[in-house]
Amino acid sequence: MTSRGHSAESRPRVILFLGAPGSGKGTQSSWLASKLGMPCLSTGDMLRAEAVRKTPAGRKLRRILASGALAGDEVVCDAVKSRLERELPNGGLILDGFPRTLKQAECLDSILRGLRMPQPTVLHLDVSLERLLKRLTARRHCASCGAIYNVLTRPSSLGTRCENDDGTLLQREDDSEGVILRRLEAFDLSCAPLLDYYSHGDYHWIDGDRPAEVVSRELLSILKPGKIKSRKTKSEKGESEKTQAAA
Ligand code: ADP
Ligand code: AMP
Repeated sequence: MTSRGHSAESRPRVILFLGAPGSGKGTQSSWLASKLGMPCLSTGDMLRAEAVRKTPAGRKLRRILASGALAGDEVVCDAVKSRLERELPNGGLILDGFPRTLKQAECLDSILRGLRMPQPTVLHLDVSLERLLKRLTARRHCASCGAIYNVLTRPSSLGTRCENDDGTLLQREDDSEGVILRRLEAFDLSCAPLLDYYSHGDYHWIDGDRPAEVVSRELLSILKPGKIKSRKTKSEKGESEKTQAAA
């Protein structure tokens, strides 16, 4: 038990996803949130909710989101800070889409230090460009509950309606080809410094090109080691057989 009365496994912690648009951050973070019983904060969802407001700030944000550029560090950091300070005592938080810049990573560190929290667990979903483009143009989401679908890899059994609540499935405005390319460009620019920043911490690289269920299983084995029997891939089996034969 720690001084705050938590065992090492139940200690509140922040889990964050790094990855390009379309790498599966939203899909995996909402799955993990229900699996681990942790709240999840998507800065994309948060900013889209702000952008529908008919205020000068809402209109400005709408233009930024439509262009595929990133919102300003200060706006995003302030919003995350107030949410973390409210949410964290209840057992941690999963962050989807934050931090996206070095400045945001530094800001997160200072928030966590202020809350006497450990450094975040970083889950980096790495996906090839070809797959990102395919996934993003085929992505759909439920207008009422936000559930994520894909017309190619995860279609709804109800066609254009959501399986959870019969809501209408929509395509995001920024999932048009031109905007996707600009979002991927923005990610490329900010990604390397972030990877550098987190490479010495609790960082995990994950091959996100695989089916969502396979990725989910790996995430759980990282976050709850010992509870999941990891199944080796064919090539891993081959390697360990070779190693055993050589020994
Ligand atoms: P992000 O939040 O990183 O932008 P999403 O979770 O919204 O990405 O996923 C983008 C699209 O790709 C969605 O339509 C989702 O259903 C689909 N998707 C997510 N993970 C996978 C996967 N491992 N394999 C195939 N499709 C996936
Ligand atoms: P997402 O839903 O994560 O794909 O984000 C959608 C859009 O919201 C991005 O293209 C950015 O314009 C904005 N956004 C989301 N998270 C951040 C962030 N941490 N910093 C700046 N902009 C963000």
